[in-house]
Amino acid sequence: MIENKQFYINGQWVDPIDGKDHHVISPASEEPVAVISLGGAADADAAVAAAKAAFPAWMATPVEERIACVEKLVEIYKSRAEDLAQAMSLEMGAPIDMSRTQQVGAGIGHLKGFIRAAKSFEFVKPLGDHAPTDRIVHEPIGVCALITPWNWPMNQITLKVGAAAVAGCTMVLKPSEESPLNGVIFAEMMHEAGFPPGVFNLVNGDGVGVGTQLSGHKDVDMVSFTGSTRAGTLISKNAADTLKRVHLELGGKGANLIFADADEKAVKRGVLHCMNNTGQSCNAPTRMFVERSVYDQAVETAAAAAAIVSVGPSSEEGRHIGPVVNEVQFNKIQALIEKGIEEGARLVAGGPGRPEGFNRGYYVQPTVFADVRNDMTIAQQEIFGPVLSIIPFDSEEEAIEMANDTPYGLTNYVQTQDADRAKRVSRALRSGMVEVNGQSRGAGAPFGGMKQSGNGREGGTWGIEDFLEIKSVSGWTD
Ligand code: NAD
Repeated sequence: MIENKQFYINGQWVDPIDGKDHHVISPASEEPVAVISLGGAADADAAVAAAKAAFPAWMATPVEERIACVEKLVEIYKSRAEDLAQAMSLEMGAPIDMSRTQQVGAGIGHLKGFIRAAKSFEFVKPLGDHAPTDRIVHEPIGVCALITPWNWPMNQITLKVGAAAVAGCTMVLKPSEESPLNGVIFAEMMHEAGFPPGVFNLVNGDGVGVGTQLSGHKDVDMVSFTGSTRAGTLISKNAADTLKRVHLELGGKGANLIFADADEKAVKRGVLHCMNNTGQSCNAPTRMFVERSVYDQAVETAAAAAAIVSVGPSSEEGRHIGPVVNEVQFNKIQALIEKGIEEGARLVAGGPGRPEGFNRGYYVQPTVFADVRNDMTIAQQEIFGPVLSIIPFDSEEEAIEMANDTPYGLTNYVQTQDADRAKRVSRALRSGMVEVNGQSRGAGAPFGGMKQSGNGREGGTWGIEDFLEIKSVSGWTD
């Protein structure tokens, strides 16, 4: 059993002040695989004090030096890639090859994206020719609490730490208690990369404990949170008394609009995208809207595609999906599959219970429902498992209306060969991101949502901007 109970505060590994033991459970075996410590208020306070003390010097450090630290981090990240892949696979269940490529790969892409964006970022900009002595100065917000989830752990940690670091903020990271081991490795990497003591601190803990202490802390200037809409609401309320900035990246219920002229791979691509990471992605296209004239064919194709998605152990190499993260998620997904059946959706692949051959581990059958109505529970709630809902539509207007009829607004998808329609529909969809014909976002494109999917933008230039204050200075002469 791995034992890792210390926190990284002010450049050192320290014992918890208020800690209590917490077992990390492998979703593949349901057995404890590691013990960590969940910190308390005193641990969070110590980390915030270190970040606060380090802020003036880090803010004054030339951006070139901050970028150089992140460049060093990228080199170390590459050398620790296998450690990160193994940790994530063990604790959150990603199949090892998927962990090596997608989970680890996402992190390195974001760090490189921040280096590129920071090198061309104008931290001091002129206002315009009409006001020659005005400058718009971008300055770091200050001490940031970074609270991250378990589903794409390194993706989320790098999106926040990379941006905060080049912006000149100091930070306290609280990773998810479901997947703390990769966060510990990341802290070791930050240490080795030579970030000055106090710039980056890590405290493990849960939402009620360390999370709440950070979001309400008077010396925390901003909370950058990725996770559920439920926790985002609690954090916003708790942060209100200190009026700190709250940056939220929350859940989603992505719509994938398949028009009759979509390319022939569109349906299969949509199914595989929905099932990737065992359906545990905030931007998963979980509602597939299909134009009536191609609906029956699409249902058949989707059912066949789901039937060949294989489910396998996290430790096994190959292209399969693993278990979902924990028992709570497993039970929630099972209940929602039952609910879909009860509300009259037609099950065409998968269904309740574990896949054949599994009697342990939080394994879920890749499941597809047809004849779903957009007001059914499975079309409205984020399931966060490998479950797809297919819904027919008769017109473009109806498809857009149903796609937008959700509290969420993260990523939507459009499949059509008609370029004008693709543009028209993309503009009408109320979401932070739209992907057309399977074209994923380019490196450095902003990631974030509208409505209850959040208010921040992560990645590249926009990700850095989220960690900056804007100061207007007039009377500036060079
Ligand atoms: P969660 O909200 O339960 O937990 C996320 C993090 O918040 C954890 O570190 C947790 O300890 C902490 N937390 C929980 N309650 C808190 C509170 N009251 N105060 C402070 N911190 C608290 O979410 P999860 O189950 O870990 O992650 C899954 C959710 O994350 C899904 O809803 C998913 O859609 C969302 N997500 C969103 C994005 C995005 O960028 N939009 C990316 C990944 C995941």
